[in-house]
Amino acid sequence: MLTWPEGNGWLTKQLAAPLGERLRTGQVVVRIAEVRGGVEVDAWDAASQSLVRWQAAHCIVALPVFVAARVVENAPAVLAHAAAHVRHAPWLVANVHLRGPLVDRPGAAPSWDNVVYGTRGLGYVDARHQTLDPTPRGTVLSWYRPLGPSRYDEGDGRRLLLERPWTGWRDDLLAELSVPHPDLPALATRIEITRYGHAMAIPRPGLLAQIGSQRTAPDDAHRGSVIAGRLSFAHADWSGYSIFEEAFTRGHVAGASLA
Ligand SMILES: Cc1cc2nc3c(=O)[nH]c(=O)nc-3n(C[C@H](O)[C@H](O)[C@H](O)COP(=O)(O)OP(=O)(O)OC[C@H]3O[C@@H](n4cnc5c(N)ncnc54)[C@H](O)[C@@H]3O)c2cc1C
Repeated sequence: MLTWPEGNGWLTKQLAAPLGERLRTGQVVVRIAEVRGGVEVDAWDAASQSLVRWQAAHCIVALPVFVAARVVENAPAVLAHAAAHVRHAPWLVANVHLRGPLVDRPGAAPSWDNVVYGTRGLGYVDARHQTLDPTPRGTVLSWYRPLGPSRYDEGDGRRLLLERPWTGWRDDLLAELSVPHPDLPALATRIEITRYGHAMAIPRPGLLAQIGSQRTAPDDAHRGSVIAGRLSFAHADWSGYSIFEEAFTRGHVAGASLA
């Protein structure tokens, strides 16, 4: 297990750094269309509050499949198929800032990822767990609460996420984590709650065959790539499994297929 503060955010910063000004953020893609001789991408530019158009010979669509299926004009069958089969779980994530170290109680040493037995949450990870600085001090705990569908959450988790006040999630968090850490509420200075309506693809047996993403590569050199005309697709969704390695591989393969 290799962890570091900032999580995957650190990785994306390193990937973005060499791109410099070529990277344009704050643009929401609303339309991708194959036109004669190229691809048009229309995006809403948040800074200028206007629609901008990009033209390219080829486009790698690295959007979640359910978003891609909405913005790609005349979505190709492989995309429509993937969007119809990949289901996403809603998640709530809360970051708890602690002004001092938690009491080190007897028993097993705290891990990076700690799950409280018998609870609904997936426990928490400690941002300072692998720090080389041994001084006991405050940290940030990230608490994860998947919202199904599961044995615990049969209802509409996405609606719950939308409608439930943040105070309810705060209370759940404090109740759950106070069991192993009774001193946590007194140490907490700030709690940041994030609602992810479509957090991660739900992997299940047979999903890859249903997505059909393995079948679109024209030859061995393009193995693993998902190509339809001038569009290539890259997102962890195409692996049916939400993890950085899959996202990276999908992006790498899509880029390499254009080289
Ligand atoms: C709570 C949580 C914890 C996780 N923990 C881990 C972990 O510990 N380790 C791990 O390996 N993975 C983890 N993952 C999974 C990991 O975050 C994903 O697998 C990875 O981010 C997928 O990368 P991606 O580039 O395929 O897609 P995304 O990260 O989903 O990137 C897609 C991008 O497209 C953007 N976008 C969407 N619509 C539009 C639009 N219309 N126009 C422009 N941009 C748009 C989105 O804002 C987003 O930035 C976690 C995920 C969640 C939700």
